[in-house]
Amino acid sequence: MDVRIDLEQSRIVVSLSASKKERESIYGEKMADLLEFSIASNGPIDFRMVHQDHLALIVLLAAHPFATGKLPIPLHVSKQFEEATRIFSRYRPEFLSTSGKPYTSTSDGKPGLAFSGGMDSTAALALMPNKTVPVFLDRPHRANTTLYNKSAAKATLAFLEAKGVPNIAISTDVEFIRNPVGFPTDLATGIPVLALASHFQFDSVGFGTVMESAYRIGHERSRDYIESPHYKVWAPLFSAAGLPLFLPVAGVSEVGTSTIVHRSPYRGMARSCIRGDWPQTCDNCWKCFRKQLIEHGINQTDFSEHQFLKSLQSKEVVSKLSAEFISHENVLGWALNKIKRGPTLDVLFNRLVASTYSLKHLDAFYPPAINLVPPKYRLHVLEQLRTYLPEMKEADQWRMIEQDFTEHLNTPQHRKNVHTLMTLLKS
Ligand SMILES: [Zn+2]
Repeated sequence: MDVRIDLEQSRIVVSLSASKKERESIYGEKMADLLEFSIASNGPIDFRMVHQDHLALIVLLAAHPFATGKLPIPLHVSKQFEEATRIFSRYRPEFLSTSGKPYTSTSDGKPGLAFSGGMDSTAALALMPNKTVPVFLDRPHRANTTLYNKSAAKATLAFLEAKGVPNIAISTDVEFIRNPVGFPTDLATGIPVLALASHFQFDSVGFGTVMESAYRIGHERSRDYIESPHYKVWAPLFSAAGLPLFLPVAGVSEVGTSTIVHRSPYRGMARSCIRGDWPQTCDNCWKCFRKQLIEHGINQTDFSEHQFLKSLQSKEVVSKLSAEFISHENVLGWALNKIKRGPTLDVLFNRLVASTYSLKHLDAFYPPAINLVPPKYRLHVLEQLRTYLPEMKEADQWRMIEQDFTEHLNTPQHRKNVHTLMTLLKS
């Protein structure tokens, strides 16, 4: 795969060209026709001063799912960065030289946060130091993303502005190099933060990754994220670029991020739905369904049978509920457990694996996840976490990390519960 990088004052353009072999490989299936994307700002930013290690990391985050064989990146990176890239085996990054100076922020360094305006990254913002700069990723309008509505994003930025929180929006179309449209790697949402690191003197990159994603709780099998291949590949790369990962909500479930935002100065700002016209939500997407249920759970208000049946008119909701393992089903279970359920909501609840075990630990934070925060910020984040949530009991911690429902999924009772829900969804 060839890489071309064009640097202009207000824009970075990265063009990847896949070889015929790469296009025809299984990694080519998810490539868009054009593997080119830009990162742009209309603020007083000069992208020509972006550190070469940061540019290289941007390229890797974009090319990672597609590249095989040689990946020549036309940059002079630091030795330590080049060494961290040797972990890749499917492809081999090669650089012009390793004579580049490593990046270190100045003494007034601060964290940058990959910010979407949703619950999870807003909770992250609430836990991070006050000097943190939320970097809003602005998605361009394109014909096939007409559902995306910018009004929520604008309202979020106005809210930050009014609170005196320094913030910046960066637009990038990196999602369009993938087919279907989406971020090539989950950490690619941090590309705008990397592009601004030298300008703002960032010393770390924050993400609103929640416990469901990091530790895979509420999935078929949990994992210890720190020991996972994902962390072992990317954490050293970000560190080698002088921008260690800062994951303040990795030990917090989606229930916890909603609770934090509710109790924080950002209450009323965050919204996860990117489709409705602010302040309305679209009430038709999977995120709306899940986040509304959490709201009802937190406020202990009714989610009526009528509301539930109305949700089932959404194809997206029905398709998510038809999955072999419903994503974030622990969170649905937590919410349904808190509220009064009619007979149809009971059908959903009984089908969830989460109806078979205690979900009290979702109210608490998982203390070992503090190791996913750079050492100098741990004390601050711990203090903040403690003001919002209780600490998870040790016995619950073990139980959560060792969850494995593979066998449960094949029990006759579970198959029967799935069948009953499927009948309801089809009716
Ligand atoms: Zn929605």
